[in-house]
Amino acid sequence: MNKELTVQNSLSRKKEIFKPIHEGHIGMYVCGPTVYNDVHLGNCRTFVSFDVIYRYLVFLGYKVRYVRNITDVGHLVDDADTGEDKISKRARLEKLEPMEIVQKYTLGFHEMMRVFNTKSPDIEPRASGHILEQIEMVQAILDNGLAYEKNGSVYFDTVKFAKEQEVYGQLSGRKIDELMVETRDLKNQAEKNNPADFAIWMKASPEHIMRWKSPWSEGFPGWHLECSAMSTKYLGTTFDIHGGGNDLKFPHHENEVAQNYGACKCAPANYWLHTNMLLMNGKKMSKSDNNSITPKQLFTGDSEHISKSYTPMALRFFMLQSHYSSTLDLTDDALLAAEKGYRRMMEGNKTLLGLQHSGKGNASDHDKEINQLIDQAHEHMNDDFNTPMAMARLFELISKINSFKGGQISIDEITAATFERMQTTFKDFIFDIFGLKDEMDAGDQNEALDGLMQLVIDLRQSSRENKDWGTSDKIRDTLKALKIQLKDGKDGTEWSME
Ligand code: AMP
Ligand code: ZN
Repeated sequence: MNKELTVQNSLSRKKEIFKPIHEGHIGMYVCGPTVYNDVHLGNCRTFVSFDVIYRYLVFLGYKVRYVRNITDVGHLVDDADTGEDKISKRARLEKLEPMEIVQKYTLGFHEMMRVFNTKSPDIEPRASGHILEQIEMVQAILDNGLAYEKNGSVYFDTVKFAKEQEVYGQLSGRKIDELMVETRDLKNQAEKNNPADFAIWMKASPEHIMRWKSPWSEGFPGWHLECSAMSTKYLGTTFDIHGGGNDLKFPHHENEVAQNYGACKCAPANYWLHTNMLLMNGKKMSKSDNNSITPKQLFTGDSEHISKSYTPMALRFFMLQSHYSSTLDLTDDALLAAEKGYRRMMEGNKTLLGLQHSGKGNASDHDKEINQLIDQAHEHMNDDFNTPMAMARLFELISKINSFKGGQISIDEITAATFERMQTTFKDFIFDIFGLKDEMDAGDQNEALDGLMQLVIDLRQSSRENKDWGTSDKIRDTLKALKIQLKDGKDGTEWSME
């Protein structure tokens, strides 16, 4: 079995054998959300993908320090160096303080991460809590001659950096010459020596709310700077893995690399991993084209794009059915199939747990095949976290499990050790690596509630017939406290919630 972990490194555009800087330890930084609106499903896809990567690294025995930031300042509306701050703009529209916006949408984000059963990062630093570190980094870049100040703003000298170091453009494949001819009509373009330069500190205009004192002006940090400063603070100047969606490769990640080199003349991360985008019905998910759906709409079924509601775990299963680096196309048919697949996997595990082994089995061809499938599932995960392939092997194992249950294969055709290995494999993959939970769907829950209420109604009826007033009073009082009403009619008793 191939035990070596390989990852697709965006820096080299190759699959590389993963070697951590410090044996047994991994530092991983993932760009978190800009908390100015409700987290959308595309964001969830990226964070669920990194959740599985994190879970798998932990499963392999690594001690992982997982840092995922919250962007609460500096991300401007047009993603470059102009426009209002996304959070300030939202605060103006909602008539709230910027930090009220940050609090509101951070809580919403955390709730959604909980719903999708993702593990919390070990550190979740906020950009606004690290202004000092960012100012120090700007100073270090200035001291190294790779930035310049103009009218209170500080710009990174991309052209000089690209001449000195060949790393600029390595991640995104952009060429500095192309960036130079990009004639975008940006407000503060005139202050820059070259169009490819970018702001690392910006002087705040009088109406700008979020501002801090610095040696250059009262202002705020450029968007890319927070990730350079916070990853350095918590993971060191060079760490193992940096992740994010592939829409961040340029300019965000390219500029992060430049800033880290600019400050310490060293690369920030050894491996850059990028997730691909979530599409809907084959097109980019976009609110303006009416081609989008929120997690809440998916959970309630309240959208013209879907025929029914889906549960968070069906959705998580759907996300894992494609590789993190492929685009993922959300369609009603694909969700229906994922829901079925999720149930089949959970049922398969339950069936396996219900099987008994006599302890006296012999290794047959089935035994060999099962061990091979288990080995392959692990190899797929070692091959750049290939969840869809690992899932396919588990489904082949489920066919075996069903044959054991149906008696087509005797359980004694495998050894007790293989039987135990199968049970451990299912537990490890479903719960620890894929991060799925066994959830009853809303239909199952309603059915269970109806059944329970019928039982309560029957117990009340028989206690009355037996003149057991103690029990019937207790039932009445408890239901009243739960705001459940019973109505006796000709056709029996009906219940409703107040
Ligand atoms: P943002 O809040 O826009 O900075 O995005 C937070 C994370 O979600 C980043 O890693 C983005 O790359 C990622 N992301 C944004 N849109 C999508 C999408 N449609 N599909 C997958 N990931 C996305
Ligand atoms: Zn970032």
